[in-house]
This record gives sequence, structure tokens and C-alpha cells, in this order.
Amino acid sequence: MSKSQIRRYIGSFIIIALAITVISFYAGSLFKKDAYNRTIEILKRSNTLTWNILSLDNFLNMDDFIKSIAVSDIRVTIIRANGKVVADSQADISRLDNHASRPEINEAINGVSGYSKRYSDSLGEDLVYVAMPMRKISGKSYIIRSAMSVKEIDSTLGDIINRILYTGFITFLALSILSFLSERRLISPLSDIQKAAESYSTGNLDHHLTVQGPEDMRIVAESINSMAESLKFRLNEITRSKNQLDAVFSSMMEAVVVLDESLNIRHLNQSALKILDLSGSEVIGKSLIEVFMNSALQSIAEEVLNLQTPVERDISINSNHNLVLKVHGTQIPHENEKTAANAIVLVLNDITKTHHLESMRRDFVANVSHELKTPITNVKGYLETLLESDMADTETTEHFLNISLRNANRLNAILDDLLSLSRLEHQDNESLEVEIRSIEGVITAAFQSCAPKATEKEVKLILEGERNLLVPVNTLLMEQALTNLIDNAVKYSSAGSSVRVEIQKKDNQAVISVSDEGIGIPSKDLPRVFERFYRVDKARSRELGGTGLGLAIVKHIAIVHNGSVKVESEPGKGAAFTIRIPLA
Ligand code: ADP
Repeated sequence: MSKSQIRRYIGSFIIIALAITVISFYAGSLFKKDAYNRTIEILKRSNTLTWNILSLDNFLNMDDFIKSIAVSDIRVTIIRANGKVVADSQADISRLDNHASRPEINEAINGVSGYSKRYSDSLGEDLVYVAMPMRKISGKSYIIRSAMSVKEIDSTLGDIINRILYTGFITFLALSILSFLSERRLISPLSDIQKAAESYSTGNLDHHLTVQGPEDMRIVAESINSMAESLKFRLNEITRSKNQLDAVFSSMMEAVVVLDESLNIRHLNQSALKILDLSGSEVIGKSLIEVFMNSALQSIAEEVLNLQTPVERDISINSNHNLVLKVHGTQIPHENEKTAANAIVLVLNDITKTHHLESMRRDFVANVSHELKTPITNVKGYLETLLESDMADTETTEHFLNISLRNANRLNAILDDLLSLSRLEHQDNESLEVEIRSIEGVITAAFQSCAPKATEKEVKLILEGERNLLVPVNTLLMEQALTNLIDNAVKYSSAGSSVRVEIQKKDNQAVISVSDEGIGIPSKDLPRVFERFYRVDKARSRELGGTGLGLAIVKHIAIVHNGSVKVESEPGKGAAFTIRIPLA
């Protein structure tokens, strides 16, 4: 039995006991009042009757007469108007004092009936007295008084109260048992319902409530069961759609961050964590600025919150990488304006690559314009000077024309390289026309193209390594790539040095390395030498007739052959370029 049940039982027992006690005492006091009234009535009649009988005896010897007729329970006393007792049915009158001071006698002396309840010294017990003034006899006034012991009344009263208490106790017991039983009949289904509610609150909606008890309780139990069923159905629906949303949310390429109205992070998906290189538990509940440390992102969130309009802007973020993100911030609409707090969703799109490509495109256009502009300006300048000058000076004219021709050739070389690059960019690996050739043959052809320059610069071309290695190549393109590398090696070498081309077979690949003993490339420039128009020393490259596109072309030729190219170099100690392509 639970504490609350015990408390309830004790409470109802106390109420029943109180009710019975009050009823007992009320009934008792009613009875008491009634008993006294009746006694007084009896005593009054006794007075009248005694007086009448006395009249028959002519009041000769009152005391003897009274003693002879009186009944044992009623004491009859005759008193003179001055208080002297002249007759008493139970006491010796010689011993009785003057009664004038007795309250009932006093009232009777004054002509009205007097009543009193008090202790009688002469009889030694509590009595009820009724005194009445009577007619004068032989000129003397008399008062007659009857008295009765209260012992009788009190004992009857006590008896009655005992009976009431006994009946009350039995009733109390019966009521208590009844209340206990009915309480148990009600409490048992209620405690089943309570257990079911507790089980539902812990998420166990499979608990089926079976109630044995009153009809009403069974109806309540059925309602609770059907409520649990529909809750379970809805919960399943919610869980299903939440799982779907979670799956969408976590598989999104875009980073999504959900913020509360204080711009603290409530939720973020896998992509957002990847940007931050963090785990989810570390950031939930923290502020946006604390986690992303980016004032631009913070101001987007603040704008969305304050202006209540969507905001879109590109920002840069320095997390583990330098990223460029397109941020779209919007407020989540909510159903109840008053209670629901505003939430903000930030969708972050990684546009670093697009941004990089875009800036490469802009740089390329600027570079091409610049590279083309220089020779054209030169040609234009010399031709204008020629037109204005004395053409008869054939030496100067020839000199100016030669410079113009060199610039025109340079323009042509740049445009040729640009066209080659453009073709290579549109070339996919599958559609490349290839033939199985010995790589040695391709290198020999490249040597032939570079031989005049090498001889002129007194640079020795050396071929080493495997000889009959067969590779699927587009001969023209591979020849162009190797020519570019050997040409560069010769260009950036000093007289008397050697350019070594080595062929090796490694992991099913042909590895062709072109190394020289020339000026080399500083390590900071190494990652950029394959970019279009990138040159370590622009003036020197131009002077040597370079376009700045040679290595970009080599890189693309390697790519269309499913291969790669890399460079190793130390300034002053030469450079080594290595092309890897799959073997036949
Ligand atoms: P360029 O037409 O200027 O030679 P490339 O694209 O062929 O253009 O080469 C890019 C830059 O890389 C060159 O300007 C040069 O600075 C550097 N470079 C290429 N090959 C060598 C090499 N063998 N030795 C030193 N520097 C080189």
C-alpha cells in the first residue's frame, strides 16, 4: 500500500470517527435536556398530588403523613413561607435548617415555581428540585417542594450514550471497511493507469492497459489505450520523417548550420563539421562567432535576424584550408509567433574551386592580353618609325624590319601555344589517337628538333636507360612535350653542360626524366611553373624566346596520356622534369 493510500485511509477514518462522535454527543445532549424536562414535569405533578392528598388529611400531622405516602425515588418537603421545614418525606425535619435561602424556595416565596439542581447536604447526593407556592392554610403560607436524584437520569443517560457510542463504533467499523473496499476498487485501476502513464512517459507506447474495475474506469483505460496507439502512430511518422530529414541533412554537399535567436549553434551537418574540422559535440550550444571566428558570417546571421529577410553573400573563411563560401542565410518560419523563438539557417556552399577557376580565368585573360600587347606594340612602334624615317637608310630599315619580324614570330609562337593548349583542353583521353611506339624513337625525334640550339649553346644531349620500352602515345604530342622539356633544359643551361634524358620502367609505367645542370628553379616557384604564363624570370624567358606556355602544354600532354609530370630542382644545381605514362 502506498503512502498516499495510507494517508487517504487515515483521513477517511478520522472523518467517520468525528462524525459519529459529534452525532453521539448531540443525541446525548438532546436526551439529557428531555430527561430533565420530564423529571421537572414529574416533580411538578408530585407537588400538586401531594398537596391534594394533604388537603384530604386536613394537614394534621404533615411530617408523618408525608413520610407515609411518599414514594422512595421522590423526596417531598413542605416549607413555611419563612423557610422553616415542616415536613420531609426522607429527612428528619428537626435536623433540617431554614430553607429560605435555597434558590428554588426563594423563588417560590416570591410566588413563582422555582427550579434547581444541586447537591443535597442532608441526602448526600445531587438532586433536582421543583418548589411551588401553595394556598394559605389557617392563615399560613406553605411551599411544597419535590426533589429527585439525578443519579437515575445520569445513569440512564450514560447508558444511552454508551449504546450510541457502541452503535457508532460498529457503524464506524462498517463504514471504514466499506470505504477501504470501495477505495481499493477505485485505487487499483487508478494505480494501473498511473503505471501505464509512467511507462508512456519513458517512451514505451507498447504498454497495453487492462483495467478490472468500475465501468467508468474501463472506459478511461480504453481511451488511454487508443490515445497511446495514435501517439505511437504519430511518433513513428515523426521519427520516419525526421530520419529522412537527417539523412538528407547529413548527406548534403552544402554545409548547413541552424542557429537560435541568440546566434548559438543548435545543429550543423557533416559538411559543416568538415569545413571546421571538428566533431559535432564540441560546437553544439556555442556561439557562431566562437566556433567559426568569422565576422562576415556573424554579420550575415545578424542581418537575417534583424532585417528578417534572406541574405546571400560570398565570404572567405580560414579554417583548416582557405575557403571561399557562398552563404545563404534565412529565417525559419514558425507556427506560433508568441512562443517559438526565431531560428536561422545558414547554408554554406564551398565555391573555392569555382572562385579559383574564375580568378585563373581573369588572370589568364589579363596575361594573354598583356603577352600579345607587348609584341604588337613593338611591331607597331617600329613600323611607324620606319614610315616616318628615311627609308633610304637600308641598314636601319632592315634592322627595324628584323625586330618587327621577331615580334611577329613571337606573336605567332604565343598564338600557336595557345591553340595547342586549347586543343589539349578539349581533348579527352579516350578519343586521343595513339600508336604503340618505342619511347626511344620519340626522344630521338625531339633531340633532332633541339639539336641546332644545343649545338649552338654547346650543350651535350645524352640519352640513357631502357631502350625498347613500348608506350601508347600520340607521337606528335609526346614529341612536342619532350621537345619543350629538352628545349627548356638547353635554354636554362650554360655552355659546356649536359642535358640528360633517362628512360626507366617503374610499376608498369614509362618514366622519362629530362635533367640539366643549369640555373635551376627556386623552391617557392616550383609549384607554379606548370601554370600558364608563369615564369621565374620574365625578362630572361622573353629574351630566350619563351612564351611561358611550354610547361602548361607539357602538363596537359601528360594528362591526355593518363600520365603526370613533376619537377625537382635546386637553384644553381639544375632541374629535373619527370613524365610518367602507362606502358603498352
Ligand atoms: P618559357 O617559355 O618561359 O620557358 P615554360 O612554361 O616552358 O615557359 O617554363 C616556365 C618557366 O619555368 C620558365 O620561364 C623558367 O623560369 C622555368 N623553367 C622551365 N624549365 C626550366 C629549366 N630546365 N631550368 C630552369 N628553369 C626552368
